[in-house]
Amino acid sequence: MTAVVAALLGSAYVLGRSLVPDQTQRHATGVTTEGDGPHYADQTPEEPPTGTPTGTPTGIPTAGQSAGPSEAGQDGSGQSASGDKLFGAHTETGNARLALTFDDGPDPRYTPQVLAILREYDVKATFCVVGENAQDHPDLIQAIVADGHTLCNHSWHHDVSLGNKSADQIRADLVRTNEAIRSAVPDAPIVWYRQPGGAWTYPVVSVSQQLGMTPLHWSVDPSDWQAPGASKIAATVLAQAEPGAVVLMHDAGGDRQGTVDALRRILPQLSARYELEALPTDPT
Ligand SMILES: [Zn+2]
Repeated sequence: MTAVVAALLGSAYVLGRSLVPDQTQRHATGVTTEGDGPHYADQTPEEPPTGTPTGTPTGIPTAGQSAGPSEAGQDGSGQSASGDKLFGAHTETGNARLALTFDDGPDPRYTPQVLAILREYDVKATFCVVGENAQDHPDLIQAIVADGHTLCNHSWHHDVSLGNKSADQIRADLVRTNEAIRSAVPDAPIVWYRQPGGAWTYPVVSVSQQLGMTPLHWSVDPSDWQAPGASKIAATVLAQAEPGAVVLMHDAGGDRQGTVDALRRILPQLSARYELEALPTDPT
């Protein structure tokens, strides 16, 4: 079984890599991403939704089938929350409260908007930040912490295949990320780790735990990285929210205005229905 899982994950990584040349090519046209911040290899926000067969790039098998872009290792990658691919990573808060998590930032275009909306509703959340973005935007790390939100390590360069590397390489990546965060906020508690793409492996879970972090997955995924629009993002979150849910959203990695706008729509209802929490800095 382990071998099968490893093979599946492996193919997801290969698929993720196969998207890179295409994405680079598209970006080179300057049509879709002018002024955008970092795009990670596993993120294809301009890609048509899974199931749209037109324009399938060469080398990507059967878009619309089980190996469509949504399984290319993105955070919202169709990883089954109930499957054994999670290696024990948390998918829920462990209590009745609901947690909002924002991945891939910080990003100067979207993170301040997210912070402002959360402040408006007095909601605390958790930000799974990418090391190189933390290094580039220490002021935003400081703003996140100053507002009472909690932090989660999301690897240095959003490396979806990190789990396939050696324990030493994984450790170096996670430590470097924590150091970038702590150069902005020296005493910042960082007790959560979220593997990019949800591509968990035993080594990445093990190393993150050795470094004092708890692996964090999710239970609600509105696929906002695909930029389906604020209405769809909001509808999915509101439909799937339940006590204990961990909601995956993104404040960076592409055009995230839809996520920002969705947040403004969902917070009135979510905060009325649930107690929202930042994931604690003392998980047990
Ligand atoms: Zn991510």
